[in-house]
Amino acid sequence: LRRNPGESEFHQAVHEVLHSLGAVVDKHPEFLALAAVERLCEPERQIIFRVPWVDDNGEVQINRAYRVEFNSALGPYKGGLRFHPTVSSGIIKFLGFEQTFKNALTGMPIGGGKGGSDFDPKGKSRLEIMRFCQSMMTELYRHIGEYTDVPAGDIGVGEEEIGFLFGQFKRITNRYEAGVLTGKGLGYGGSMVRTEATGFGTVFFVREMLKETNRTIEGKSVVVSGSGNVAVHAAQKAQELGATVIGVSDSSGFVHDPKGMDIALLKQVKLVEGERVGEYAKRRESARFEEGGNVWSIKTDVALPCATQNELNGESAQMLVGNGVRVVAEGANMPCTPEAVRIFRDNKVLFGPGKAANAGGVATSALEMQQNASRDSWDFDFTEHKLDEIMTGIHERCASAADEYGQPGDLVTGANIAGFVRVAEAMHSLGVV
Ligand code: NDP
Repeated sequence: LRRNPGESEFHQAVHEVLHSLGAVVDKHPEFLALAAVERLCEPERQIIFRVPWVDDNGEVQINRAYRVEFNSALGPYKGGLRFHPTVSSGIIKFLGFEQTFKNALTGMPIGGGKGGSDFDPKGKSRLEIMRFCQSMMTELYRHIGEYTDVPAGDIGVGEEEIGFLFGQFKRITNRYEAGVLTGKGLGYGGSMVRTEATGFGTVFFVREMLKETNRTIEGKSVVVSGSGNVAVHAAQKAQELGATVIGVSDSSGFVHDPKGMDIALLKQVKLVEGERVGEYAKRRESARFEEGGNVWSIKTDVALPCATQNELNGESAQMLVGNGVRVVAEGANMPCTPEAVRIFRDNKVLFGPGKAANAGGVATSALEMQQNASRDSWDFDFTEHKLDEIMTGIHERCASAADEYGQPGDLVTGANIAGFVRVAEAMHSLGVV
């Protein structure tokens, strides 16, 4: 706490992981001897820089940007960039820390990193966003590369922003290094399924959780929070697998659609037109919008928090449990508060932690890197099949680690242990660096 003052989200993420590791360090004293745990909690490098840009009125604006290169024991740093006014060093460090474990869980050769800026893309023109991205890359380019650090998108950073960032990287370096960024457009080195991957992956993970208890997702009701990239694609895959998605939200309120969401309409309203979620209810007879309401008040079998950190608190968890929720899986990063997680676990609700359940996005980014390195591009079905296999593998790794360390069915402990052991073993092999 004294070393990282004011970084409450980072403290929360570290505490949650360390809490699970007692049994591991008992079994592996070598990790303690080389201070693997302490080193894992300290980013290898943190870069903070000024981003000056000129708005459409000719005024100079200043934002702050971050890149936290957390751990490269398994491969180049890998993790998204977030553009949101709440971005701070504590948020980026929590995300980078989580990313290290998440990336390890995928079984792929990628380290952990995260970055972003307090720039708010909402209400900015396309040219303002472009000027901001170009200015940000004018500093960032010297820290990244396909063998060094490979950023991607996150909240507020989609294909358009990645395009502007990549354009400036290429211009400054005079190198067509496609593997330097992932989440690119399909026309210049992007991967099929990357857009859908996190949401689809979360639902594949839920399918595996249910399989473990001889149940299926077919016929279940599902509520998803948020209605951005992750939420919309989670909703899409849940319905494709036979569930009924009855609620989504954004920061203005939630929509309840008991007949099941019209996914095409949801995509049109949120992803194409960038409207508030209430607009969906205006165009759909069976749906009702509740301004400022809590989406977790809807009775559901499966809850998928896919919006942002700490959005689902103890009170909402109690409400979900009271309404008989059976499965909760985190599509977002750390959306459930520690109290909410405790309530789910105490009430035997199957709980899939974000570092496992939402790892499909970064896994598909790693597939994008593979395609870029081999100058290849794979079709949708092939790539989705690979994503499915990866998510099944992640579930298997978490469940086996939970069994091995005497906590069967506890995927939180399983994910923390399986991710930690893979990174710690690599750090042990590489010596004290
Ligand atoms: P988007 O920006 O596309 O969407 C975020 C959504 O969450 C928006 O609908 C936003 O609504 C909503 N939201 C934000 N805050 C709240 C709130 N307090 N209550 C209700 N809704 C809220 O981001 P993504 O979908 O890409 O990311 C969502 C989460 O998933 C983040 O935690 C991200 O780190 C994580 N994640 C994303 C990955 C990816 O591939 N994109 C990969 C792995 C994790 P509004 O527009 O009103 O703000």
